[in-house]
Amino acid sequence: MKQSQLFTKTTKETPRGATFISHQLFLRGGFIFRHASGIYTLLPLGLMVLRKIENLIRKEFEEIGIQEVRMSILHPAELWKKTGRWDTAGKELWKIKSRNEEDLVLAMTHEETISAIAANTVRSENELPMIVNQFQTKIRDEERPRGGLLRLREFIMQDAYSFDKDEENLDKSFKKMVEVYNKIFKRIELIAIPVKASTGLMGGSDSYEFMVLAESGEDRIAICPKCNFAANLEVLKNAEKCPQCGTEMKIKRTIEVAHAFKLGTKYSKAMNILYEDKKGKKHFVQMGCYGIGLERAMATIVEIYHDEKGIIWPKEIAPFDVHLLSLGSKNEAIKEKIQMTSEKLYQELQEVKIEVLYDDRKEKSAGEKFADADLIGIPLRIVVSEKTLKEDSVEIKKRGEKEIQLIKLSDLKNLSDFISSPASD
Ligand SMILES: [Zn+2]
Repeated sequence: MKQSQLFTKTTKETPRGATFISHQLFLRGGFIFRHASGIYTLLPLGLMVLRKIENLIRKEFEEIGIQEVRMSILHPAELWKKTGRWDTAGKELWKIKSRNEEDLVLAMTHEETISAIAANTVRSENELPMIVNQFQTKIRDEERPRGGLLRLREFIMQDAYSFDKDEENLDKSFKKMVEVYNKIFKRIELIAIPVKASTGLMGGSDSYEFMVLAESGEDRIAICPKCNFAANLEVLKNAEKCPQCGTEMKIKRTIEVAHAFKLGTKYSKAMNILYEDKKGKKHFVQMGCYGIGLERAMATIVEIYHDEKGIIWPKEIAPFDVHLLSLGSKNEAIKEKIQMTSEKLYQELQEVKIEVLYDDRKEKSAGEKFADADLIGIPLRIVVSEKTLKEDSVEIKKRGEKEIQLIKLSDLKNLSDFISSPASD
């Protein structure tokens, strides 16, 4: 994409009221637009990152046979009355009325709807286990939306539900989901610690939060420096010693990026999800649910991966692979040569499926282009300038590293080597 045609622009000023670094950088970099507290539009760059995360999760899920659905955001109130959550969900549940005085709920979560479907589809033991997933908007009447994309009133969640014939198999599905989550977090370069948590509103028998250590986090966990046992402070109550090895626990600030619950039969009993075993006897299914907030994951990544100049995107979820900067020159002939070389490179990179943001803006100085590249945080920067063309070269620099390399234009065929190598090397 040509940067001259990008829908949004960057700004130098730190936006007022944005205290979290991810919030500041998303606004300054033109990733998001704020409409009201906790309500944002994802602009092209922001949407690209969100879709990368979404597709990465989708691919991992497809590999282990998870099917995708998309459930409605409008729910009839009856569903929520059946599980009792119409009354117990609290003020965060957004209730509305239709013109015909019909009570409706804006989806805060989807246990009720998936259960209504499963009650109608699950029949026999042979169909289990089953895991289905969706990416869908959730609406929550948050008392205190904050931190830009960290706590929203409207957001997108990856939301999977498992159905099993007994507790032993629920444990297996749960383990399978924890494993795939670990794989996903590794790919998006977050170190997420599974932490035992309370079950709260969701009910059920067991729950784990995936916590990323971050100074700006609003949650706190207790973690054992010796055996790494970690627990939510609610769960741990006042225990100062590790329940596994007796070492003194350390308190750390964290951001919750995912949650997994063993729901047991809470919803299958309320919604009547039964399967028949081989002898024809009916049983309630055991359910689990597993969610990652996509915008929050995105913001958490930026809370971790940034410097004083801007974002440093991990490779797999960066909006583009390469930021190609074409610099100006006072000499008209050289200026033309720079432009031609840049255009050609832009085409060639796209031909080999490398995603390029091409800074072709004529009115911007070199300094402004460099600052924008650092702010937006694309992993590899390529500069074409008077200086580089003197050497028949381009300049290559990885975001977050100081080293600058001159690469001959004729050697650029091997550019994919730079792009495919891990960010950490
Ligand atoms: Zn311990």
